Amino acid sequence: MSIQTVGIIGAGTMGNGIAQACAVAGIDAIMQDISDAAIEKGLKTVSGSLDRLVKKGSIDEVRKLEVLSRIRATTNPEDLGAADLIIEAATENEALKVKILQNVSGIAKPGAIVATNTSSISITRLANATHHPDRFVGMHFFNPVPVMALVEIIRGLRTSEETVATVTELAERLGKTPIGVKNSAGFVVNRILCPMINEAIFALQEGLASAEEIDAGMKLGCNHPIGPLALCDLIGLDVELAVMEVLYDNFNDPKYRPAPLLREMVDAGMLGRKTGRGFYDYSK
Ligand code: NAD
Repeated sequence: MSIQTVGIIGAGTMGNGIAQACAVAGIDAIMQDISDAAIEKGLKTVSGSLDRLVKKGSIDEVRKLEVLSRIRATTNPEDLGAADLIIEAATENEALKVKILQNVSGIAKPGAIVATNTSSISITRLANATHHPDRFVGMHFFNPVPVMALVEIIRGLRTSEETVATVTELAERLGKTPIGVKNSAGFVVNRILCPMINEAIFALQEGLASAEEIDAGMKLGCNHPIGPLALCDLIGLDVELAVMEVLYDNFNDPKYRPAPLLREMVDAGMLGRKTGRGFYDYSK
């Protein structure tokens, strides 16, 4: 099946990025969220991202408007019924995702594929919330979606080969490099990345060095383009905590225990860039 229209559930960090990537590739996007405020914020983010490309001279104003015109934003889940593929990119919470997937299964048109952008939750388990587990798959994009080249394509136990082939082809049309991954908590990248970030938070908590020094250490010592704490601010501390909890619960291995400082900062609402404060201050 060739995908013409993609529905996206959630207009947050990932949802609006996926909508932008689709629109840039000439694919119509229907971006759905629960409130007008979330939709407006999502559209503003896409517009700002395109403005930066205009400023850089990569695209012109006409192209920007063309891309924006391909994104239809809505608060009505029923509108997702027009999509060939629906990508769930709502908050990382299993109970919420189950509810959303149960609901969207009744809305999706016959033959439509449903995917989830979950960072860590089992695709095989989430598939139980859908009417067609063979047409359910993980499509794990990376942040920021318009610039990051990777998509992990995660097959649940009941995902069909045809579904994997269709979303792999779509990822390529979006200009991304897909890698096929077996269903396992955290998949490949987060299984490696999130414990590294968590360890950086332990290092900060133990006073081994300042946030700036820890980040400089990993940038200069390991050639990472961004330090782990700055990256955590970008990802969102709540997302990092949720992934560590999933790894910890799934593997029952103490090496995945979330750093107490991470939990404390999430409790304080210091979620990183999206709240203006994380390991660094973005409020000014
Ligand atoms: P976010 O908090 O920025 O956005 C989540 C959005 O979902 C919000 O706008 C919220 O209003 C919306 N939402 C909540 N309930 C909803 C519902 N019932 N229907 C429709 N929308 C609803 O979160 P995010 O960072 O964009 O993460 C979204 C998903 O992508 C999560 O599963 C996360 O694990 C995954 N992910 C995140 C990153 C990252 O770096 N942030 C990377 C890869 C994958």
